Amino acid sequence: MSLQITPVDLSIDQITRSRRNRFTSVRLDRLVEYRDNEEWVEAAQNSEAARFVPLWRSRSLLASTDEGQYAVYLKPGELDRPDAIQPPTLLGTDGKRYFFAVSINDSQREKVLALYPEAQFIDLRRASVDMDAKHAGVLAYAKALHYWQHRHGFCGACGHPNRLYSSGHKLVCGNEECARQSFPRIDPAIIVLVTQDDACLLGRNANWPPKHFSTLAGFVEPGESLEDAVVREVYEEARIRLKEIHYVSSQPWPFPASSMCGFYAEAESRDCATSEELEELRWFTVPGLEAAVLEGSVRLSPPVSIAFRLLADWYSRRCGKDLEHLVRKAKKLRRESDRIISI
Ligand SMILES: [Zn+2]
Repeated sequence: MSLQITPVDLSIDQITRSRRNRFTSVRLDRLVEYRDNEEWVEAAQNSEAARFVPLWRSRSLLASTDEGQYAVYLKPGELDRPDAIQPPTLLGTDGKRYFFAVSINDSQREKVLALYPEAQFIDLRRASVDMDAKHAGVLAYAKALHYWQHRHGFCGACGHPNRLYSSGHKLVCGNEECARQSFPRIDPAIIVLVTQDDACLLGRNANWPPKHFSTLAGFVEPGESLEDAVVREVYEEARIRLKEIHYVSSQPWPFPASSMCGFYAEAESRDCATSEELEELRWFTVPGLEAAVLEGSVRLSPPVSIAFRLLADWYSRRCGKDLEHLVRKAKKLRRESDRIISI
């Protein structure tokens, strides 16, 4: 017996839904009104409440405990004089502390690691699986600004060096005749779980690790709405026509500069065809997905991704179970089977 499709739960408002996605739990007041108040920013930077989020070569400072990773914030005085060219970037306040992102160089890195020997600079995408949601959001916010600042050192119009303003949130060309302003760049992308009756579609890109399957996704192109991008990407990647699209939630994804806009879409039929981008497409019912994950023939995106969230919510709506639990069970089975083989 096949279950009826349950409509997307619209009783939760969009903000609440997005807040369930990793990197969205930044409860900071961004203090936008203070960004241009240099006196205020300097006082905040020099106050005891200042905390600095260090970034070295786009990597975040994290320390490990048995419970997982935690973000290490530097206190005033723990960092050499901030770099004059790259002043600290005001992120905001949680009501107790003022957070600033700072880029650090190799020698500053050595000093920081000497102060915090249990910490290391690591890739946030890898670390965020095991860390507190709020702090993952602070680090993601800092990383996104850092990436933008470091890749826009020169004016795109005249080639002169840019200078940072608004506490790190605006770049202005140093050529007075040009004075072009630019702002943090975000690349919008759509990500969509296509369903048809009791099944959902996952695809495999040839460049991904073996057995990795995920939802379809792609960048939004100029002159295109998010919905148009969903329709185009699904047709380009899988030759599927859609009959219904629902926006679900979004996620900042600073790897390097995306904003992921998540959708559910209902296909007209299960007819599909692989494309240059996707070498394999598979429809999964709930029992089919469970069997594939447990036997190890399918690996899913990590739980921090909106791809996983879209799939997990679909799975939970259809069968009332938790996809993370299924993935953990599959990992345990793999470990046990590896152990038996090694014995
Ligand atoms: Zn210029």
